[in-house]
Amino acid sequence: MIERYDLHCHSTASDGALTPAEVVQRAAEFGVTALALTDHDTTAGLAEAQQQADSVGLHLIPGIELSCNWQNKCLHVVGLGIDPSYAPLANATHLLQSTRLERAEKIAFKLEQKRIPGAMLAVKKAAGEGMITRSHFADFLLSQNHVSTQQEAFDRYLAKGKSAYVSTTWAELEVAINWITESGGVAVLAHPMRYKLTANWMNRLLTAFKEAGGQGIEVITSRMNPDELRRVADFAKRFDLAGSVGSDFHNPANPWVELGRLPALPTHIKPVWELLN
Ligand code: AMP
Ligand code: MN
Ligand code: MN
Ligand code: MN
Repeated sequence: MIERYDLHCHSTASDGALTPAEVVQRAAEFGVTALALTDHDTTAGLAEAQQQADSVGLHLIPGIELSCNWQNKCLHVVGLGIDPSYAPLANATHLLQSTRLERAEKIAFKLEQKRIPGAMLAVKKAAGEGMITRSHFADFLLSQNHVSTQQEAFDRYLAKGKSAYVSTTWAELEVAINWITESGGVAVLAHPMRYKLTANWMNRLLTAFKEAGGQGIEVITSRMNPDELRRVADFAKRFDLAGSVGSDFHNPANPWVELGRLPALPTHIKPVWELLN
């Protein structure tokens, strides 16, 4: 059987709009046969996703998207085929929940100073048991008419250097890659074009990523233009990284980022699923 892969998406365990079961259901409806649920810094959605995957006959690959620090930048590394019960990883996600809660309190405080009260209560309610993310703050700012789009919430308040930005200590890149690989998974650099790195910095990052045991790079993600695709495919070749395919789906309300609606991996790139067992 020819599989249709989508190896990057989010549920209500982090900043997705759908529950893990709903994500799996929707993926199946959109023709995905092998899905990785990769919530931000948590594996809490995987058990529910697996149950639904069993009932619709979809192949679920246990995943995570870890926030990392490297050279004063924040990067995302997707772990595929991880073991969520591997103790160092489980302990890390547990600690990251507190990290995110404390960061949220600081962001809410900064918003209060800008005469925008009530953020903490709202994001806690929206996130429920899940990880609190900046997307929750963006939704809050939107709901209170402080901004007219999610993007504007980032541009005006939440992005690096903006008035409600709080810098956070995430895992070091090497450490995050170790949690993934030691748990039996494959570490994949998520959405490489989104970091806006110069060619020089990208070379340095990919060198460090490889050295630390990273094995894959997202060659196909949503909203990529042909030039970006060519450049990422070239990185994969030059650094001998396997190519991954992931939509980064968050919300059915965004028609530009949908489960499984992705171009094929170029045939000259080694597919990351060959590394998964
Ligand atoms: P966090 O991990 O809490 O810092 O939140 C990061 C999440 O916010 C990302 O995964 C995206 O879903 C969203 N995000 C980050 N930057 C932007 C942006 N400029 N516009 C819209 N969403 C963004
Ligand atoms: Mn997100
Ligand atoms: Mn990401
Ligand atoms: Mn993501």
